[in-house]
Amino acid sequence: MRSKIVAGNWKMNKTLEEAQTLTSELIGMIADEVKGNVKVVLCTPFPYLVPVKNLLGSNARISVGAQNCSEHASGAYTGETSASMLKSMGVPYVILGHSERRQYFGEDSKLLTKKTDIALANGLTPIFCCGEPLEVREANGHEQLVKKQVEEALFHLSAEAIQKVVIAYEPVWAIGTGKTATAQQAQDMHAIIRKHLAAKYGQAVAEEISILYGGSVNAANAKELFANPDVDGGLVGGASLKSREFTEIIKSI
Ligand code: PEP
Repeated sequence: MRSKIVAGNWKMNKTLEEAQTLTSELIGMIADEVKGNVKVVLCTPFPYLVPVKNLLGSNARISVGAQNCSEHASGAYTGETSASMLKSMGVPYVILGHSERRQYFGEDSKLLTKKTDIALANGLTPIFCCGEPLEVREANGHEQLVKKQVEEALFHLSAEAIQKVVIAYEPVWAIGTGKTATAQQAQDMHAIIRKHLAAKYGQAVAEEISILYGGSVNAANAKELFANPDVDGGLVGGASLKSREFTEIIKSI
């Protein structure tokens, strides 16, 4: 059965001290208040992965995740972090293809294929992001574009490998804008992604893949979004930086 996951994407925010405070608050609130089997992932900036992981200790519910990794195995790539480094640090998750990486760092499907492969080869779980910009939604091209993004970056994988990937549908127009997709818009796109996976890999495989929604998720809208049958949790940016709000989001699943 596929997992319910709520992942926080901290992006390039917080000092080390603030990151540690947020983590400690979350550990307490989640232990006291979160029931059920939802997995929580804190996708911190690279320098905070180890300190945050150390604070988490053997916490069974909360893990850390990176926000990116290199497509290269090792070598002269100044400033980059490899999947094997993340593995060696005991980091289980990595976000790949976030719209900010696609937009500001020119990441495309070809590159994301390589990043996905190297992440999986190192035993990491990629949280693969897809989603359409506003103009594509307005021109009614969102379904086609998102299917293309998923297929170009992931459909070379075997049925066994793709079940190790988490997909995050994040309409670009909803990221950091306060403009959330409606619960119906989210469900429709998630069902389309799952149908596309089923057409390639069969229904049983598609049913095993967690598809998260991302885009201005907050404590007020999370319950309605997460109630959809094909929405298996969320990838949360801004609201994951506040312990009380992030905990309320996790409790909404
Ligand atoms: C994100 O960064 O993936 C995201 C969804 O951000 P926000 O929740 O702030 O829209």
